[in-house]
Amino acid sequence: MALMIPFVEFPTAIATGVVFAIVTAWLALKKGYPPLLGLVAGGIVGPLALVVYAFLPRTEDADQQAEMEGRITAEQTEAAKTRLCPNCRRVLSIAARVCPKCETRLPAESPPPTT
Ligand SMILES: [Zn+2]
Repeated sequence: MALMIPFVEFPTAIATGVVFAIVTAWLALKKGYPPLLGLVAGGIVGPLALVVYAFLPRTEDADQQAEMEGRITAEQTEAAKTRLCPNCRRVLSIAARVCPKCETRLPAESPPPTT
């Protein structure tokens, strides 16, 4: 509580305010709010701003970003399990040896190095 600390402990109050400002700004950024607003609010009202931001719903931007990150991860996971037919570009299982569409024989997924 930066504002309730006696004047003699002013440096401590400043330090506390700065800590709350940074934490609130980080929380605001994480939820998709302008971090500068969180920084100012955290510096002025300290823990109160932190509590307010903690209970604020995530913005649509934050949701979209999280969704995008999730989608990229899902795509990467999917890509690890699939391969493309070199002939017709059909997406096949990594285990497939023959393309079911054009019946192209597929090379082994990772040919062992010949010595
Ligand atoms: Zn094919």
